[in-house]
Amino acid sequence: MDTRFTDEESTFRAEVRAFLQQAWTAELAARIDDDDSYPVAIVEWQRRLYERGWVAPGWPRQHGGCEWSPTQRYLYDLERSAIGAPDVLPFGIKMVGPVILKYGNDAQRARFLPRILRGEDWWCQGYSEPDAGSDLAALKTRAERAGDHYVVNGSKIWTTYAQHADWMFCLVRTDNAARRQDGISFLLIDMKTAGIRISPIHSIDGVHSLNEVFFDDVRVPVANLIGEQDRGWTYAKSLLAHERTAIAGVGDSKRRLRRLRQLAQRETSGGRPLLDDPFVQARLVDIEIELMALETMELRALFEASKGKGPGPESSLLKIKGSEVQQAIQTLMMDLAGLYGAVLPGGLDAQAIGHDFGDEARRAFMYGRAATIYGGSNEVQKNITAKAVLGL
Ligand SMILES: Cc1cc2nc3c(=O)[nH]c(=O)nc-3n(C[C@H](O)[C@H](O)[C@H](O)COP(=O)(O)OP(=O)(O)OC[C@H]3O[C@@H](n4cnc5c(N)ncnc54)[C@H](O)[C@@H]3O)c2cc1C
Repeated sequence: MDTRFTDEESTFRAEVRAFLQQAWTAELAARIDDDDSYPVAIVEWQRRLYERGWVAPGWPRQHGGCEWSPTQRYLYDLERSAIGAPDVLPFGIKMVGPVILKYGNDAQRARFLPRILRGEDWWCQGYSEPDAGSDLAALKTRAERAGDHYVVNGSKIWTTYAQHADWMFCLVRTDNAARRQDGISFLLIDMKTAGIRISPIHSIDGVHSLNEVFFDDVRVPVANLIGEQDRGWTYAKSLLAHERTAIAGVGDSKRRLRRLRQLAQRETSGGRPLLDDPFVQARLVDIEIELMALETMELRALFEASKGKGPGPESSLLKIKGSEVQQAIQTLMMDLAGLYGAVLPGGLDAQAIGHDFGDEARRAFMYGRAATIYGGSNEVQKNITAKAVLGL
């Protein structure tokens, strides 16, 4: 494997850097950081990328994508995360978009893809149910055919940003077949349809991004079925492999680790920088080594992808390692914040009385617990790896 970049790739990288420096402004960064302004600001960021023609790196040019090579995508991601700019919302561009491209029909491609690119529709993912998470094929939300509609009944849970979504891509049971995976279909549901109720779930970091979604006789046109009825499992799985590769987050972890080093250099204990403490040093170096190994694993996956191989079981390895590194960074940041990372009694301002990163450390740590759960829990990814990679 040759990990050196070609001259063209280096030129491309410089072009990306120049664009991001002018497109990613401090004003937009502040609005994206604020929970209230986030929904509008993230779409605005996506619109800036769209106007530059860079919103869908992996899509074919014919459909408005960049058709970048895996290495170009990697370089773009490194540059984006180095300045702290967020990735686009994954649900449209990275999840349902590729499924519509591959398994949808011409009418669906013409209707949905341009709107996804322009950020006009906000999508959410309706996979998990109260009794179907890791064991996704146990899902029970039913869709019964009634003329040119399906009638959907049941519920979904942990639906990220359902409260903002215009559309949901949803797995529904259309047949109680002998093999559970054979009776599942992939439906696109307009979230404004009568009979849909959204109930918020507030997570431990105090943020409302998660929801429960209930369907009560929701009528969905048959024209919104992707591919064939009862074949949805195949489409659902192809989407999950892309989701897991995207979760590795090497670039973002590199930036967070750089920040951690700066904080450890700045903050003192007993008059000396925390960075002088051999225990802090050892933990930082441990994480750095893990991150270097993760990056090499990702480069190897890119090398395979550049030869035309799609994401396979290695996406599970990237998900496991990527999320573990993210959590190790968050845990160390919490430890550096010490008491100032605790939830303070009402009225006390962490920034005023202690480290200015106490709040940031706590929120990242709390939400970060989810990284080893979403996108398929790490235990389940280990099972997949045992079977598909180690042949156990
Ligand atoms: C922040 C967040 C956002 C999410 N967003 C979405 C979303 O937008 N859309 C969506 O559809 N879903 C979403 N999810 C749901 C997520 O995909 C599920 O939580 C995940 O698949 C695990 O399912 P579960 O919660 O039902 O846990 P369970 O499947 O009940 O698992 C409970 C525990 O048992 C372990 N376990 C289960 N089976 C095995 C096994 N065979 N071997 C070993 N251990 C096992 C698990 O690892 C876990 O520790 C989100 C979850 C989180 C936390």
